[in-house]
Amino acid sequence: MKKMEAAYLEKPGKIVVRRIPIPSIEENEVLVRVARCGVCMTDVHMYKGSFPVKMPVILGHEFSGTIEKVGEKVTSYANLTGQIPIKVGDRVSAIPIINCGLCPACLRGKSNLCESVQAIGGAGEIVNNGAFAQYIKLPARVLYKLPDNLSYIAGAFIEVTACCLHGIDLSRIKEGDSVLLIGAGMVGLLLLELVKFQGPSQIIVSEGISERRKLAKARGADFVIDPMRTDPVNEVKEITSGQGADVVIEAVGSPQTTEQAIQMAKKGGIVNIFGVADIKAFSQIKPFDIYFRELTVVGTYAVTLDTFNRAAKLLASGRLGIDYLLTEELPLHELKKAIEMMKKKKGLKKQIVMVKE
Ligand SMILES: [Zn+2]
Ligand SMILES: [Zn+2]
Repeated sequence: MKKMEAAYLEKPGKIVVRRIPIPSIEENEVLVRVARCGVCMTDVHMYKGSFPVKMPVILGHEFSGTIEKVGEKVTSYANLTGQIPIKVGDRVSAIPIINCGLCPACLRGKSNLCESVQAIGGAGEIVNNGAFAQYIKLPARVLYKLPDNLSYIAGAFIEVTACCLHGIDLSRIKEGDSVLLIGAGMVGLLLLELVKFQGPSQIIVSEGISERRKLAKARGADFVIDPMRTDPVNEVKEITSGQGADVVIEAVGSPQTTEQAIQMAKKGGIVNIFGVADIKAFSQIKPFDIYFRELTVVGTYAVTLDTFNRAAKLLASGRLGIDYLLTEELPLHELKKAIEMMKKKKGLKKQIVMVKE
C-alpha cells in the first residue's frame, strides 16, 4: 500500500507527522494531491484547545492541489464551477464545508449554517481530516476547479478571501461610509483590500503592532491608531468628528476589542464580529448602548458557496493585491513552527508547501 505523510493534531499543543496509507476513495469521492495549504487562526485555536475538536485529526482547510484519482460515479463538477467534466490532473481547491443541501439554512443559501454541517480540516462541530497531508480525499461536490490563470498559491487563498468577502457582505458598507478595522493581521489586511472596493470615505485601522500599522497605511488606510499608546475609542471619536465609524469590523477576536468595537460605532452603525474569540470568553457590553444608539451587531462565520465562487473569480481577475500577505512558505514538518509563529503574531500568512510549483 502506498503511503503518505500527514500532520496529526494529537492533543492540544502536540502535532506529529506520521506515515499513513494514502486514503482509498469511495465511488463519489476524489483523491487530491495537495500542493499548498494555508495556516489559519482557527488552526491556532484548535491547536491551543480554545476551539474544541475531536483528536487525533488532520487540520488544514485552505488548500489547492491536483486531482490524482476519480471515483467511479464522479462525472462533473457541481454547478458552482459549471457542469464540466472532472479529470485526473485538474488543478483544484475545495469548499471546506460539507452541507446537507436540504435543511432550512441550506435552502436559504446559508450553507455555512447548515444544521448537519461537516467541516473539512477546519473549525466546526464535526471535523473531517484536512489538507496538512500529501493527499486528501473529498466528496466530489465540494471540489472547485481553479481558473487556469490562478496559481496554487492563490488557490490556497480562495477560502480565506471568501471568509473576508462574506464578512464584507454582512458589513453592508455604503459608498462614503467611514470604516474602522480593528486588527491588521493577515485577515485584517485582506479585509482592508476588500473595503477599498466599497468606496469608503475613510478607512481607520486600530492595530497594536507597528509593522502591521505601517503595512495598513501603505495599503490605503487613512488613519492608523496604536491602541497600546492612546485610548482607541477617543481617537476614533476624534477622527470622525465625535461621531464614531459607520461600520466597525472587529478582526482580532478578543473580549476587549469587541467592547471597543461597540463603543466606536456611530449611531445607527454596524458592528461586525469577525475575529474568532476563545469559545469561553465573555465581553462586558451595555445593552443600553446597542438599544439607544440603534446598533446592528452581526457575526461572520466561515464561507458560503456563493462567496467561495466570487472569491476565486476576484483572485483570478488580478484586481486583489494579496502577494504581500504571504510571508512564510514551510514544509509539512514545520507546521507546528508555523502555528507557534501565528500565536506570537509573527509574519502574516503561512503556507505549508507540499509540491513546489
Ligand atoms: Zn481559514
Ligand atoms: Zn443543511
